[in-house]
Amino acid sequence: MRKFEDSYLHKGLRNQLIEVLKKKGISDEEVLAAIQRIPRHFFLDSAFDRLAYEDRAFPIGEDQTISQPYTVAYQTQLLEVKPNHKILEIGTGSGYQSIVLAELKALVFTIERQKVLFEQHKHFILRKKYSNIRYFFGDGYLGLPTYAPFDGIIVTAAAPFVPPRLLEQLKPGGKMVIPVGEGNVQKMIRLIKLEDGSFHKETYEDFSFVPMLEGKNG
Ligand code: SAH
Repeated sequence: MRKFEDSYLHKGLRNQLIEVLKKKGISDEEVLAAIQRIPRHFFLDSAFDRLAYEDRAFPIGEDQTISQPYTVAYQTQLLEVKPNHKILEIGTGSGYQSIVLAELKALVFTIERQKVLFEQHKHFILRKKYSNIRYFFGDGYLGLPTYAPFDGIIVTAAAPFVPPRLLEQLKPGGKMVIPVGEGNVQKMIRLIKLEDGSFHKETYEDFSFVPMLEGKNG
């Protein structure tokens, strides 16, 4: 049985990571504090115990990755989460991003299309700690119409286009943060739904995500 321990060494490494994120331009104190509280090494194989606090993506199985901390911080900052916001996440993966959102006191709905990852996550040590996250197995292109509308939608896989069903599920004033583009590089896009139902679009930096695929697997 693996022993999960969050030591002073880990906390020290996390403090260093926070400094790296600040230098790279992350300024939202709440987002930084959330990352500082979460033991990222719990999400990775024990071989990555120290590496977990480098600003890098890592494999989590099924050809998927846990996003780079900078990417998580960047997307979360753009989402402007407030306590009790209903947030939809596409691509649960390791579950790290969901827990960052949960630490910001959002009510989180997260969807994963890979059955293996979805099942694996049920046994994750930190899962019991957060009653404000609900996990779904499904196709993120469809969103979760039953629970819509959302204050925010965050897509953590590279979308070839902005899924229209997700736009429908956003509240007026709500924000969607989504990396859009095919190939190796995507542009981070933020869409804000206006009161008349139209969208204001902002384009940010380049990122590199695993692809957002259609349909469920498993
Ligand atoms: N947010 C994750 C990042 C995981 S990588 C984390 O914090 O670790 C992206 C994830 O999106 C992968 O697990 C992949 O299987 C999933 N994914 C890709 N297309 C999807 C879709 N259409 N619906 C739901 N999940 C999808």
